[in-house]
Amino acid sequence: MTEDSWTPATRAVIAGRPPHAAGAAVSPPVELTSTYVSWEPFGGNDPGVYGRMNNATWRALEDAIGSLEGGTAVCFSSGMAAGAALFSLIRPGERLVMADSSYGSMLAMAAQLAAAGRFELTSVDIADTTTVIAAMRGAAWLILESPTNPLLQVADLATLGAAAADLGVRIGIDNTFATPMLQNPLEFGASVVMHSGTKYLAGHSDVVAGALVARRPELVDAIRAYRGLHGAILGPMEAWLTLRGLRTLPVRLERQQASAGVLAERLAAHPAIARVRYPGLPGDPGHELAARQMRGFGAMLSIELAGGVEAADALVAGVRLWVPATSLGGVESLIERRRRIPAEPDTVPEELVRLSVGLEDVDDLWSDLAQALPG
Ligand SMILES: *Cc1c(COP(=O)(O)O)cnc(C)c1O
Repeated sequence: MTEDSWTPATRAVIAGRPPHAAGAAVSPPVELTSTYVSWEPFGGNDPGVYGRMNNATWRALEDAIGSLEGGTAVCFSSGMAAGAALFSLIRPGERLVMADSSYGSMLAMAAQLAAAGRFELTSVDIADTTTVIAAMRGAAWLILESPTNPLLQVADLATLGAAAADLGVRIGIDNTFATPMLQNPLEFGASVVMHSGTKYLAGHSDVVAGALVARRPELVDAIRAYRGLHGAILGPMEAWLTLRGLRTLPVRLERQQASAGVLAERLAAHPAIARVRYPGLPGDPGHELAARQMRGFGAMLSIELAGGVEAADALVAGVRLWVPATSLGGVESLIERRRRIPAEPDTVPEELVRLSVGLEDVDDLWSDLAQALPG
């Protein structure tokens, strides 16, 4: 049997491990070296000769992420480093269509590159499929998230993928929120998948990492060449930590999203909450699409407080179990009013509080929220 014939839950455990052989390490080692023995002539991006182009611990991690996403993974020092590599694939003067509710730093980098004349930029509401397709005419790339951070909007991946194929547009999808367990964008025709490995893949709030995944060899080569030249490489220890975290992604996510579903329902019934954004709720605008294209609804949700910013800040200040912190996808539940961050786009309501549901007992998580909510 080849590795690919196992299910994703199994591949998360076995991918990237050394082959079964007597005396072989079961866990891939952390390869701490900056250079490799070599004396033949070599080109700048040849693998195997220098630590900016090659590392065995990266390869183990890349095998695992690639196996789960169905492509070839290239790891980076952060999600944003992966994002920079994704933007580098856009040729000078081409036009990029991007969701106006994308991750704030991705929007900021796109705006900066567009202002510097690298490419043209069109912003769209990613949940408005007709408008997105109209904006794609004459564009070279569409970059989106689904579900989006932190509005939990869902894009129609099948329709956008088909339109992109017709129009000759390439799609890059940030799959950080869904993770490869719930959604594989390459199957919907995306050319590149992006991950902030900092979040669910590593899963323990102890490492910053990123990755791109692509199928077409020329894209994979371009991404590797960009990393080798610009140097935003993942440290071997960070690669190892990310891989170690990835081993438990399927079980973590299963539990986390079950708890998120329970909390979303209880929050939706609470008088202090004006709106719950969670694609798992039947009334959510993204529910039907998410049910069609995802294998679960994920463990991120956002709430809007009826009492506005004051009530939102009081909630974050009043919890004792939930950790007030940015980031997401770890074993510990995190809570944050997103607009406290100046760079957060104003498509995000001021009173929106984002919840990253961790592995604590769901009733403990609920009682902590309930005691901190007004009334
Ligand atoms: C965190 C995040 C990023 C950026 O990743 P870093 O690892 O923090 O650089 C990009 N996209 C999304 C959706 C994120 O949540």
